[in-house]
Amino acid sequence: MRPPVRGLDLDPQTRCAHWHSDLDVIAIKMACCGTYYACHDCHAALAGHPPRVWAVEEFDEPAVLCGACGTELSVSAYLACGSRCPHCGAGFNPGCHKHRRLYFAAG
Ligand SMILES: [Zn+2]
Ligand SMILES: [Zn+2]
Ligand SMILES: [Zn+2]
Repeated sequence: MRPPVRGLDLDPQTRCAHWHSDLDVIAIKMACCGTYYACHDCHAALAGHPPRVWAVEEFDEPAVLCGACGTELSVSAYLACGSRCPHCGAGFNPGCHKHRRLYFAAG
């Protein structure tokens, strides 16, 4: 069962109003509320509370959803996956790694 994902203009593969290239298929569970959002900006628009990033000790929590196949990855698995879903092989936007500080503590 795929967890629900929130976002603005969400498509079935979790693209949103902010990130909508072919590769923008991941959603991130926000540590503050345990809810998947398409991106940080969607959380800011919809959640009504400030974000919290995942602490290093929490990196084995499932926190990244592949919108292509619905597999959940832990933070560690996502950071190690080389911008490709280990389950279905879908390519992820490598640019997301530049924004990792918005979601994950410095590891
Ligand atoms: Zn939140
Ligand atoms: Zn968004
Ligand atoms: Zn996948």
